[in-house]
Amino acid sequence: MILGVIADDFTGATDVASMLVRAGLRTVQVIGVPEGDAPAQADAVVVALKSRTIAPADAVRDSLAALRWLQACGARQFYFKYCSTFDSTAQGNIGPVAEALLEALGSDFTVACPAFPENGRTVFRGHLFVGNQLLSDSGMRDHPLTPMTDANLVRVLQPQCQGRVGLVSYEVVQQGVEPLRHALEAQRAQGVRIAVVDAIDNQALRNLAAACSQLPLITAGSGVALGLPAVYEAMGLMKPDARAAQLPRVGGEEAVICGSCSKATQEQVARWLAQGLPAFRVDARALARGEEVATQALQWAREHRDTAVLVYATASAEEVRAIQAELGAARAGAWVEACLARVAQGLVQAGVRRLVVAGGETSGAVVQALSVAQLRIGAPIDPGVPWTLAQVQPASDAAAEPLLLALKSGNFGSVDFFAKALAQVG
Ligand code: ADP
Repeated sequence: MILGVIADDFTGATDVASMLVRAGLRTVQVIGVPEGDAPAQADAVVVALKSRTIAPADAVRDSLAALRWLQACGARQFYFKYCSTFDSTAQGNIGPVAEALLEALGSDFTVACPAFPENGRTVFRGHLFVGNQLLSDSGMRDHPLTPMTDANLVRVLQPQCQGRVGLVSYEVVQQGVEPLRHALEAQRAQGVRIAVVDAIDNQALRNLAAACSQLPLITAGSGVALGLPAVYEAMGLMKPDARAAQLPRVGGEEAVICGSCSKATQEQVARWLAQGLPAFRVDARALARGEEVATQALQWAREHRDTAVLVYATASAEEVRAIQAELGAARAGAWVEACLARVAQGLVQAGVRRLVVAGGETSGAVVQALSVAQLRIGAPIDPGVPWTLAQVQPASDAAAEPLLLALKSGNFGSVDFFAKALAQVG
């Protein structure tokens, strides 16, 4: 194994794995920290945690456990992967986890770069843009769990860190690998522990990946990963594998589960509804009243067995705010996640074999409920969202047959994503 990745949520893990596969690195994603040995025939292993929104001490504990397992598997470089919108709570967890990983690796310096230009995420003068908007003007300001109200990444990260946070500006990144490497060394010499690095295109990400070739730890969104396979190939560590993304065909029924309220997902749900396709809305207030919503959804789904169904909790920002004011944000989120996870479980037991899940936290809950241990990463549906072949834990009763999962981060995917994803494996 060359690269060990620690991802702070499930869709994020799939996103970075997809990036690596695309460039020919054989990549396996494991769910949580496994007990056993490294997966066979993998150049990179991505450990998917659910650590983005938990207490910082818990996120540090889980991330260090992942690091120790990846170290035992022989990884030579490590990558802490967070969201391309730098999702974090007021307390962290990007800063605390990055610093704990650095310390465990005996290192004193790393970079931070969430840029993913193909998906419109760029960093300029330390400010994160989503498309043409500053992060703080984008839909992320209304996120149910990690509202992002400041686009200045140095200002966001510094209060989360013990060490100093610096900035390497685009002018240097653009000059090429060596000037960038020198700039990073200069930051380190000045006592900076984490340098935010500007990147507005893929070339900048490639330069950054190459400039970081000797760093034990990289922290980034999935974008920087696109440059790593070429770096490893140049170092003689691997040869790209053209079949790295091949998955088997899988028959059976199909469904979409949607717990994301992000803007892109709202549009995707609206498109599905506008086309008159079957959809069941999960009402958070009904969950709070103790109604058996998951059972109702599954019964409804049984009546629509002949076609793909959508079960969604997605609501407008205004509606989510009202629900959160009534029920509490964390409680509402947990209720919805638990309900959708039960629906996913029931659907798979009833024969669904191609399942699209929208939402990072939602995907985490679904994958846990299905006892998925490992995902082999296939071809992308849209940037950052591949189909994956799930390997279910042996003891589980969830799915004995192959199961294809597409785990979509809230803001990813084109407006017709759900239909497009299902058509790709239909
Ligand atoms: P994204 O990838 O868009 O951030 P997530 O699944 O990570 O999506 O997060 C969305 C969160 O919002 C989840 O915890 C989910 O349970 C919660 N949620 C979904 N629908 C509602 C709703 N109608 N009211 C309140 N919370 C909701």
